[in-house]
Amino acid sequence: MINFDNSYSKLPDIFFERTMPIPVKDPKLIKFNESLAKKIGLNLNKDKDLSSAIFSGNKIAEGSDPIALLYAGHQFGHFVPQLGDGRAILLGEVINKDGCRFDIQLKGSGQTAYSRGGDGRAPLGPVIREYIISEAMHSLNIPTTRSLAIVTTGEMVSRETLLPGGILTRVASSHLRVGTFEYFAASEDLTNLKLLTDYAINRHFPNLKNDNLRYQKFLELVCDNQASLVAKWMHVGFIHGVMNTDNTSISGETIDYGPCAFMDSYNPNTVFSSIDHRGRYAYGNQPNVAQWNLACLGECLLPLIHSDRNKAIEIIEDILGDFENKFKKYWLNGMYRKIGLSDNKENNYILLEELLHLMEQDKSDFTLTFRYLSDLVENKNDNSNFKQQFLSKNKVDSWIGKWKERLKEENKSEKIIKESMLKVNPAFIPRNHRVEQAIYEALNNYDYAYMERLVQLLNKPYDYQPDNAEYMDPPKNNAQNYQTFCGT
Ligand code: AMP
Ligand code: MG
Repeated sequence: MINFDNSYSKLPDIFFERTMPIPVKDPKLIKFNESLAKKIGLNLNKDKDLSSAIFSGNKIAEGSDPIALLYAGHQFGHFVPQLGDGRAILLGEVINKDGCRFDIQLKGSGQTAYSRGGDGRAPLGPVIREYIISEAMHSLNIPTTRSLAIVTTGEMVSRETLLPGGILTRVASSHLRVGTFEYFAASEDLTNLKLLTDYAINRHFPNLKNDNLRYQKFLELVCDNQASLVAKWMHVGFIHGVMNTDNTSISGETIDYGPCAFMDSYNPNTVFSSIDHRGRYAYGNQPNVAQWNLACLGECLLPLIHSDRNKAIEIIEDILGDFENKFKKYWLNGMYRKIGLSDNKENNYILLEELLHLMEQDKSDFTLTFRYLSDLVENKNDNSNFKQQFLSKNKVDSWIGKWKERLKEENKSEKIIKESMLKVNPAFIPRNHRVEQAIYEALNNYDYAYMERLVQLLNKPYDYQPDNAEYMDPPKNNAQNYQTFCGT
């Protein structure tokens, strides 16, 4: 049973289109996230047929009011006045025992009014990819939409070739995006823009509800959440890949796992997406893009923030101008923790910069370098795993010497420093070749055991798991040419 408590579908009709999922031929539930179901308060009695029917869209559960959401968005910098859920349907919302509200959405559930010629479907490969990576992000303590279920449809989806179809059930604290605001702002619909903003405030920042300055404070908080989110991506080498404004969530969750991927060798210019030719969404450019996306939100909120346009611009510019400081604060804080230092001394910054520079020069693996640095705190061994990540051994020795001196000034035991570092330097990330292998086994051999194993080990990314040691490693042939696709 799902206790739906829908709020978005009670907004005026212009916000969405009532749309039923299009039934599929032979739905089979191949993955269900029990712990997430429990967290959001679902009770489905382990009836697999019923779950297959509900999470394929073949059966509409009582209380569900399926809608496709309308939004606009800047894609690669170009404004598209109408996008919307072209292959997703919001089944409804639930509230858990802690009072948290969640959207339950099907992705790949057939055409909607916003499909713009697309088939509304999703191949199974990208569905598995989103499941593995979004759940890994959650376990890495990064705010994200979650994955509740994967259903295979028994139908083929036509892309460059015919591919087996899948449907992902996505759980989000909402699907409000910068693009949702852009839709109403661009159509100069001030009434609904205000309604939307008040809805977003009630849902995500209820403390602001009766505040006279609520619209500017709303912008401030969204900026803060994005600064913190993108800093967290940077700390684990995550590249979103398609940070369009329609993929920028107001709640501060990572959303829309299309061409995202984790970086192996450290290089700020890393891009995996096949269509990101200019590196707009490269690893190192993510904070700039986040700020650009927030400027789009600021522009939308202008008429709500102040009736005097110039005053509104001044307020918005101040808020957006502060993004850089906010980001830097979050980023540095996390980076210092990664190298075992706690405060913000000038020397620490130089030490951090030096390490990143060496890593870039020697193409060190981003994840392993920090993980093995954690082990080095107590290790006196000269030929450490950490050092193996570098070619210029002399330079790295000199860096280690300076770092160890700085660690002494922390006035903490080595054990405590190491423990704290291991909590922020994961051993396991969803390595691209491993994710591909999971998809390959599922698609070619109908074998989901590999996916299952990957999901399980990524559930505890900070734990030492000797049985899974080989999953820590980057691909042997260093897959620099790995490409990801939006064509999901
Ligand atoms: P995305 O790049 O996944 O954020 O998608 C951008 C827009 O294209 C969204 O409005 C999607 O709903 C839509 N879209 C993507 N794939 C499809 C598809 N297969 N059928 C219909 N719409 C799609
Ligand atoms: Mg999207």
